[in-house]
Amino acid sequence: MSSPKIVILGAGYGGIITAVRLQKKLRANEAEVTLVNKNEYHYQSTALHESSAGTLHHDRTRVKIKDVVNFNKINFVQAEVISIQPDEKKVTLANGDLEYDYLVIGLGFESATFGIPGLKEYAFSITNINSARLIREHIEYNFAKFHNEVEKQQSRLNIVVGGAGFTGIEFVGELANRIPELCKEYDIDRAQVRIINVEGAPTIMPGFHPDLIEYAQNSLEARGVEFITGAMLQECTPEGIIYEKDGEKHEIPTKTLVWAAGVKANSIVEESGFETNRGKIEVTPELRAPDYDDVFVVGDCALVMNEETGNPYPPTAQIAIQHADTVADNLLRIIRGNDELKTFEPVIRGTVASLGHNDAVGEVFGRNLYGWPATVMKKAIDNRYLLKLGGLGLMFKKGKLNVFY
Ligand code: FAD
Ligand code: NAD
Repeated sequence: MSSPKIVILGAGYGGIITAVRLQKKLRANEAEVTLVNKNEYHYQSTALHESSAGTLHHDRTRVKIKDVVNFNKINFVQAEVISIQPDEKKVTLANGDLEYDYLVIGLGFESATFGIPGLKEYAFSITNINSARLIREHIEYNFAKFHNEVEKQQSRLNIVVGGAGFTGIEFVGELANRIPELCKEYDIDRAQVRIINVEGAPTIMPGFHPDLIEYAQNSLEARGVEFITGAMLQECTPEGIIYEKDGEKHEIPTKTLVWAAGVKANSIVEESGFETNRGKIEVTPELRAPDYDDVFVVGDCALVMNEETGNPYPPTAQIAIQHADTVADNLLRIIRGNDELKTFEPVIRGTVASLGHNDAVGEVFGRNLYGWPATVMKKAIDNRYLLKLGGLGLMFKKGKLNVFY
């Protein structure tokens, strides 16, 4: 009898940790595992705000898949997934089809634009290495262009960020560090550059502890970030953005809107006909798609309800990694004929948001952290992940070991 075929789609946090865990635990010929990913590399989405601002080169945040996955044990297919046909146990890739006995969907997130006019056409989003490179280059291009015009356009120096959730806040924190460097390089007065964050809720980081919000806002404003809260961004045009506040419409001329106001699951999930809730597959406690016992879902494509709050757990790397551990163990159990599958029990250790490279805020194990201790914690979380993914070697190669600045 041939060994079962396991296909893992996506090498983000959820997909790659599933693959690495299976690689460690599977015995020879127990299963044939194939990992499919668009790129030959895995990237840490949690560092994309840094690459987008230009404070951390993207090569520091990506890892070649061959460096952490043993291709003698796991097949790797570099290809774009087009669709999934769960009734036929088949996946369509840009360059062919793949059949499976068990599937793990880990295709991650996309920017959610909520049908707001002009966003798809004119806004940037922090979603992958390519989009991060584009934002970094676009900002720098506009600084360079500014002095080459007879009629200088202030819109080149107005950087608008939509949304003050964690992504928006972490990004403006990086910009607050990067803009003074760009000003020096392009002979531009820092006072001419505006970093404007537009947030629909009455405060930034809605739902976070009020003391942490206050600290974050003060830290960022002191470094020149402007916040407009209670303001819904309504439209983006080539010339600027329109937002509504207190029933009135306002315009900000800008060539740079970075839309960081929410994410959704990869639309392939919905388009493939799975039953979805808010675009995600509401998984069973064992992390299976409800109608398909042979399909598991990890990371941002999965929706798991928090029974205590009645809301879904937020899409985070922290949770994606824990999904992966559960799914890999469940696949091992199935293959070894054990019908008693593990149920997913999330362990939420807390949240830390960076405010640039040397400041941060966090809530960890129920305690509030501010400034340097939060920065150290943030770096420790990233390093711990690299250790789990590729051991000490990877941690020393790609980790953030500069904890003192
Ligand atoms: P992803 O990490 O998005 O990976 C998906 C993978 O699938 C990628 O490799 C992609 O290339 C591949 N893929 C996508 N489409 C296709 C296709 N069609 N064909 C083939 N391959 C495809 N969470 C935290 O817990 N802590 C943080 O500090 C944190 N910081 C963040 C900072 C930023 C700027 C952002 C944007 C998010 C942050 N998050 C953080 C959230 C976290 O990054 C996501 O929840 C996490 O990346 C989800 O993991 P995933 O495995 O589902 O997918
Ligand atoms: P989010 O959904 O958490 O925040 C989006 C923000 O945009 C909200 O504050 C919302 O009020 C605002 N918004 C929505 N529509 C708007 C509009 N039209 N105009 C103005 N504001 C609008 O999204 P995110 O920040 O991208 O985070 C996505 C996920 O990634 C979350 O689960 C988050 O926890 C996670 N994440 C975690 C970290 C971290 O742990 N350090 C960092 C980044 C992201």
